[in-house]
Amino acid sequence: MRFFKGSLRELALNLLSEEFFSQLGDKSLAKFFPRFREYIKTGKSSLIENIPGFCNFSSEFLIQDFRKRFRTQDYPKFDIIAITTLFTFCWHETIDTINGAKSFLKPDGRILVGGVAASLVPDEIFRETQIRPITGTLSTPGVIDRDNTDIIDSLPQDYSILDETEYIYPSHDAYFAYTTRGCIRHCPFCAVPILEPEYKKFCGIHEQLKYIDEHYGMRKDLLLMDNNVLASDMFDEIIDEIKRCGFAKNASYIPPDEYEIALGNLRDGLNQRAYVRKIIGIYDLTASRMNDKDAGEFYICVRSSDSFTPKQHRPNRFFLLPHTSGR
Ligand code: SF4
Repeated sequence: MRFFKGSLRELALNLLSEEFFSQLGDKSLAKFFPRFREYIKTGKSSLIENIPGFCNFSSEFLIQDFRKRFRTQDYPKFDIIAITTLFTFCWHETIDTINGAKSFLKPDGRILVGGVAASLVPDEIFRETQIRPITGTLSTPGVIDRDNTDIIDSLPQDYSILDETEYIYPSHDAYFAYTTRGCIRHCPFCAVPILEPEYKKFCGIHEQLKYIDEHYGMRKDLLLMDNNVLASDMFDEIIDEIKRCGFAKNASYIPPDEYEIALGNLRDGLNQRAYVRKIIGIYDLTASRMNDKDAGEFYICVRSSDSFTPKQHRPNRFFLLPHTSGR
């Protein structure tokens, strides 16, 4: 599983570079990865000249093959691609993303399109992409996988994807939740009655937050995304629920051990790409606070320590957020 936000061409380059490096099978060349990636992008032979242990016939043939794949848009393929659409004013980026994602799909794969714009103007999206979007919230079982009984809208968010982006998400230290859904009013200018037509006056959040604590670590803030919480006649119960989750007067917060969480999730086979990045980031931060000698010894210790063993292999799917300027 992979989450991506950005240019699809950059995604293709990353995927091809990673696949090339995996096929090369020589981890001692890891520090040259940026040069291999740039060669696949540009084809400049000076980038791969004089790399010790690389310039033999089969390695050169292999990287040239990946360079050709990048040029001819022969990209790695996925079983399922799920695309979240956002605002209708990002129309061109959204349509280009959906159509561009088709180059990453296996012949028998599925592209799923949902989200705000898809729910507001599904016919227009279909006309431009030939893909019929999923509209509204995923609040009934079986919308995506017919035999799956999960209600996707009630599942806890996957915070591991925040470690897959190149930037720090501004609200990464918050739980995201709804204590109500929809709205009792139907203001003609508002999208809420279309996006969430049924008003739910109480959505419990305690279990969701507990799951997040156990799997991703405790968050400092609670970010509620309700449209009209004041319309609920269970307002008192909502406030009690918020307090029960720890957001009460004089509450204290101890940041979780991010290293332990990342290592535990790696061992459980959860989003390896994200947690490898996370752990490397923690190692680099730790080493940056040491002198050169200690940093060198630290890295030797890290390399010789017990490595993780993932428990499961998951289907090849990716989730895509169209890249829009200013966000
Ligand atoms: S969310 Fe606000 S603007 Fe939208 S329908 Fe409800 S009251 Fe009206």
